[in-house]
Amino acid sequence: MSFSSDILSNPIEYIHGISAQRGDMLRKELEIFTFNDLLNYFPLRHIDKTKVDKIASLTYQMEYAQVAGKITDMELIGEKRGKRLVAHLQDDSGESIELVWFQGINWIQKAVNIGQQYLVFGKLSFFMNRPQIAHPEIETFTEHKAGGKSFLEPVYPSTEKLKARGLNGRAIGKYTYEMLQLISEKDLPENLPASILQQYKFISRFDAYRHIHFPASEKHYLHAVRRLKFEELFFAQLRLGLIKSARHRFSKGFTFDKVGDLFNSFYTQYLPFELTGAQKRVLKEIRKDAGSGRQINRLLQGDVGSGKTIVALMMMLIAADNGFQSVMMAPTEILAQQHYNGITALIKDMPVCVKLLTGSSKTKERKEILQLCEDGTLHILIGTHAVIEDKVQFKNLGFAVIDEQHKFGVAQRAQLWKKNSLPPHVLVMTATPIPRTLALTAYGDLDYSVMDELPPGRQPINTVHRFENKRPEVMDFIKEQIANGRQAFVIYPLIEESSKLDYENLMKGYEEVKSFFPEPKYWISMVHGKMDAAQKETNMQRFVKADTQIMVSTTVIEVGVNVPNATVMVIESAEKFGLSQLHQLRGRVGRGAEKSFCILLTGPKISNDARERLKIMVATNDGFKIAEKDLELRGPGDIEGTRQSGLLNFRLANIVQDKVILEAAKEAAENILNNDPDINMAENLPVKNYLNRQKGKTAWSKIS
Ligand code: ADP
Ligand code: MG
Repeated sequence: MSFSSDILSNPIEYIHGISAQRGDMLRKELEIFTFNDLLNYFPLRHIDKTKVDKIASLTYQMEYAQVAGKITDMELIGEKRGKRLVAHLQDDSGESIELVWFQGINWIQKAVNIGQQYLVFGKLSFFMNRPQIAHPEIETFTEHKAGGKSFLEPVYPSTEKLKARGLNGRAIGKYTYEMLQLISEKDLPENLPASILQQYKFISRFDAYRHIHFPASEKHYLHAVRRLKFEELFFAQLRLGLIKSARHRFSKGFTFDKVGDLFNSFYTQYLPFELTGAQKRVLKEIRKDAGSGRQINRLLQGDVGSGKTIVALMMMLIAADNGFQSVMMAPTEILAQQHYNGITALIKDMPVCVKLLTGSSKTKERKEILQLCEDGTLHILIGTHAVIEDKVQFKNLGFAVIDEQHKFGVAQRAQLWKKNSLPPHVLVMTATPIPRTLALTAYGDLDYSVMDELPPGRQPINTVHRFENKRPEVMDFIKEQIANGRQAFVIYPLIEESSKLDYENLMKGYEEVKSFFPEPKYWISMVHGKMDAAQKETNMQRFVKADTQIMVSTTVIEVGVNVPNATVMVIESAEKFGLSQLHQLRGRVGRGAEKSFCILLTGPKISNDARERLKIMVATNDGFKIAEKDLELRGPGDIEGTRQSGLLNFRLANIVQDKVILEAAKEAAENILNNDPDINMAENLPVKNYLNRQKGKTAWSKIS
């Protein structure tokens, strides 16, 4: 191994003081392999040793103290376990402070001399009103230390294992310090254009790295953090933007240039309602895309019930008009079945061949469907991810709709792309809205459409929170609704780790509901994860057809299920659900013209976070608002709909707290891509060079 000219890629053992053994520990415990890893291992906080305190001025409020003075006496006292070395240090204020050692006594006795000047630092405590530092850091005092350290001292996150080996949060800083001595400006060249540096008054990249570790003051630190956060978000945006713009400029896709008989006859004869303004606008956006000759990759965001399905259907009809087949993928069999039922009902009088393919399709049927796909007879295939398995070969697949995206991974999307000579167009539809900031970061490479309008006549759903002791009243309310011909959902939580418990809860709940609603006056459907698909479907269909008035279920019905006659949604143990899930569940009612209700039942004890969630649910029906709040409460890592959540794990930036920087970074990235799409202009050279250096180093290069 030799010292690499790309100094940042050197192994950490090249840093003075890091032995092979310590290197191993840093790799294992903190995943610090190279200089660059250590450079990007940022401190948790800093300790201020830039001042020397007068002993006379020490107060109880001070966590740490740094003092300078003469050791006046030193004495070994106590025996065995109580044995300790006690010294006193006096400064020119005339006061003295007690220094105590319980360990390493021999070494201190040898190293520290009475009558000499020392600089001492440590955690301050008071014993009998007198200041004391146990196990202080102590070093010989020299004139140039008189003003204290010239920078704040960093404290890094460490682990128990490392601490046990003397590698605590501050020891790591010694290595960082050593390393920074080896690095010069040319090793950390600027990667932002001068105009951006000026606009935001950013310090240079090199300075930012030095100051984030060893700042001269808090102000220096904050400047460093701001600059590095911006850089992080800027390059994330830029990379996504580059992927998007490359697709816009170079990707070839099928052209749907005809609006033919199928679309037109559907629009004029079979569409059961007027499209909303938002639906029309979005259809126009997608059609424009589809006529452009490039491949579509579009995210369609819409609130629950905004009518995304019909938009997808109409695009699939346009695909068929142009001689292409379509697939529509749903995350569950129930949902796939629903789409199939809904779509076949809408186009039953049209010459369109639609089939349903799921994991539970019978062998014979499956064979027939595969044949229809291959010979091109089939226009639309609806199903679970079974529709993109390798066995399913299409004559001419041109359009894919992925409903409720978060259940689908990147791998499945890649599978789709192999299905035809050019990758089919992809329309991704989200189950519930995703916050804008999150969409920017996680889906920045996709084009983006929003349906921010509900079909007319929808009344907002009346949402209330009730404690469990009010269950009888809630059941009475359901009775009233049923007497008016309506139906109700009662939902129980599903926590995967304890599915047995959930099942028991569900059964108990079912019995309880049954005791309020006895047969034969009432009939109840039940659906849960332990049923096979056919059973689920039968029970679901009984509810859809209103043979049963109540659906008792776990969250398997979470997404997409459409029963417009249902007007009551009771959510049991509502405190256990996340916000977007609650919103999604609530969206199962309020789909018809009748006034609908959502009742959130909880036990008497709920956490503050849960209380906050319930409050928001009661306050608003707006999925976009709820999504923003959800992000605030949970942080970006946990939000549903974040495919590749790695994209959201920034080292420094946090897309919730750093929204302002995120917006600025996005704007800056967009400006560059608009003016200089290939990043070739001289002023953008720092950016280009940086991207080139990063090639192969990050997951990004694999995406692009
Ligand atoms: P989501 O966006 O949640 O997937 P759906 O596509 O399931 O919503 O639509 C919800 C309900 O609204 C369906 O019953 C659908 O038929 C109906 N719908 C959709 N668009 C309109 C419209 N423009 N006018 C009236 N009802 C509509
Ligand atoms: Mg839907």
